[in-house]
Amino acid sequence: MIGTPLAGNNDWRKVLENFSLPLSVKHDSLLLECYNILVKGGNIDVDLGTKLFESPNLSGISALADLIKKSRFDDYVYFNDNLHVNTTNICVLACRFCAFRKGPRHSEAYALSVEEYLHRIDPFSDIIDEVHSVGGLHPDWTVEYYEELYRSAKKTYPHIHIKSLTAVEVKHIASRSGISVKETLSRLKSAGLDSLPGGGAEILVDTVRDRICRGKESSAEYLAIHEIAHGLGIKTNCTMLFGTVETLRERAIHLHKLRNQQDVSQGFQCFVPYPFLPDKTRLPEAQLASLNEIIRVIAISRIMLDNIPHIKAYRMNIGSYVASIALNSGADDIDGTVNHEEIMHEAGSSARLDSDSEELAKIIENVNSIPVKRNTTYSNFTRYRRKPDDDSRRLPIAQSTS
Ligand code: SF4
Repeated sequence: MIGTPLAGNNDWRKVLENFSLPLSVKHDSLLLECYNILVKGGNIDVDLGTKLFESPNLSGISALADLIKKSRFDDYVYFNDNLHVNTTNICVLACRFCAFRKGPRHSEAYALSVEEYLHRIDPFSDIIDEVHSVGGLHPDWTVEYYEELYRSAKKTYPHIHIKSLTAVEVKHIASRSGISVKETLSRLKSAGLDSLPGGGAEILVDTVRDRICRGKESSAEYLAIHEIAHGLGIKTNCTMLFGTVETLRERAIHLHKLRNQQDVSQGFQCFVPYPFLPDKTRLPEAQLASLNEIIRVIAISRIMLDNIPHIKAYRMNIGSYVASIALNSGADDIDGTVNHEEIMHEAGSSARLDSDSEELAKIIENVNSIPVKRNTTYSNFTRYRRKPDDDSRRLPIAQSTS
């Protein structure tokens, strides 16, 4: 497989057809049916997707997802150099799963000025090429604040890609400013907004949304806002928050809605699934996503999302260990160096924030994959070569005695 472009294979269904299937797939009629649909150019519907979520054969599901991943990207796994800067934790909504938002009078509430935002980026500006910025729905900020923010960031750090705003932030800014979503995105693009990170999809079933994030945009609005962004040439990612109150079928519906949207507007680059991180106070009725369930969701997303190129193992949420397992179960991206993160850490994540490129590359190499550094839009790739390991720190078990 080595020798193909670092960006992966467009003709992945043909490559998949030529792989020999492991017994865990070959002897499972459900997985064989999925495999045959995919190699013939089809996609997995909600009924089949639900059966995958109900199947006891997790090893077979992971094996099929891994074959699909390898058909598309060989042994390559992608990462980037990025920084998270949240603009404000003040939010007019109170989603039940959210540990990040604060009321305006809370002692820990903050709202960054443009200068403070730039100061957050400054120490990292030489080592990153992406800033990922989302925040709460500030009661006062209109489109002008964000225009000034992006314009100033672009002027000061022209090499840094600005990936910012969830769909509900876009909707809120449009409504606060009295303009349409299209005009909002268009003005923000002119000011320097490069792409949207895709957060806030949660589960795209309105009865679930009503229970966990009442007041947020509807499922149709989430998809429509992304479609408008795609129409303006703004690439986006898409996400899924699982392990709250949704059923297995609702997970399959979510994935199917995203793939159908991609058929229409084709601007999703990457799917980022992450489990709800529970604590004692928020959503006490939520399910807990076990390690097996996290791997299952990632693997099924690779099988169902035939038209979305990348699947991310989001290290900030699931940690490096689970992310490394996910890389052999359908994921091809391990996110970035991040450097600073609040939303997942407020919710209980203990993922390390001081991992540099060397460490991410080591996680990738440890699962027999090849690290590739990418830019945000997956249009620029560099094979990453780690510095040689310090042999003095290795056990001498592999040394020759002759
Ligand atoms: S998830 Fe977003 S919209 Fe919901 S309360 Fe938290 S910050 Fe606000």
